[in-house]
Amino acid sequence: MKHRRFRIHPEHIQGRQAFIVDPQEIRHIRSVLRLGEGDPVNLFDGEGKEYRASIVQITRGRVILSLKPETASVPMESPAKIILGVALLKASKFDWLLQKVTELGVSEIVPFSSSHVVPRWGEGQTGSRRARWEKIAAEAAKQCCRTAIPRIHPLRSFEEALAYDAGRATRVLLWEKEKAVRLGETVAHSSRVFVLVGPEGGFSDEEALRAQAAGFQPVRLGPRILRAETAGVAIVALLQFILGDLNK
Ligand code: SAM
Repeated sequence: MKHRRFRIHPEHIQGRQAFIVDPQEIRHIRSVLRLGEGDPVNLFDGEGKEYRASIVQITRGRVILSLKPETASVPMESPAKIILGVALLKASKFDWLLQKVTELGVSEIVPFSSSHVVPRWGEGQTGSRRARWEKIAAEAAKQCCRTAIPRIHPLRSFEEALAYDAGRATRVLLWEKEKAVRLGETVAHSSRVFVLVGPEGGFSDEEALRAQAAGFQPVRLGPRILRAETAGVAIVALLQFILGDLNK
């Protein structure tokens, strides 16, 4: 029943009743899946909860549902909290990376601009981009049956990204010039990791030094130079294997 899975906003849950008002979801329920009263569906609130429900009524403007008593606490979220700081990439690359790391269970995305970032977006553009990124993350979470949707932060400068308070996270800088340190040793016993991936043009040496001074441990992912989007997916997959649930 994976395809009968819909996001429900927590504020639209009242006791044993819930309602969907998103026009796209209503159209999907009515016209694509042709669901009707009494049909069972799964709901997820995007904050970690999953519900089994059945349709009570479908009108043009809302779908009313009744929640089943048991809340299916399906463990679809990783125990590892991974916060991925990603330098702005060309739109399609950023979108692709966002979709893949959402499927891999990333918790937060911190987009940042740095000296070698190629796309230059004005303030207004990053606002609309962020709305697009949130949509991509929500759709990817729905598709892979996650119950939480990664939080997408507003665009930050490099300095603001370094200063982001990621709680008691192990801080990692993906730095291809690093020779000595290995990922496993760096994140051993962590449950929370904040990792930075540079842009197509890479980090400058000054930025790498600034990041180290801010407590980010440089780590190399082997000898080959990976595309930024490849490095982003690789590091989330590796961290989920070492610390999360990819090995379960
Ligand atoms: N400096 C690279 C070059 O000379 O072509 C360009 C940067 S690479 C395309 C984009 C980002 O991916 C880097 O800033 C780094 O964060 C990460 N990355 C790529 N390969 C890596 C590796 N082997 N080890 C660690 N990080 C890597």
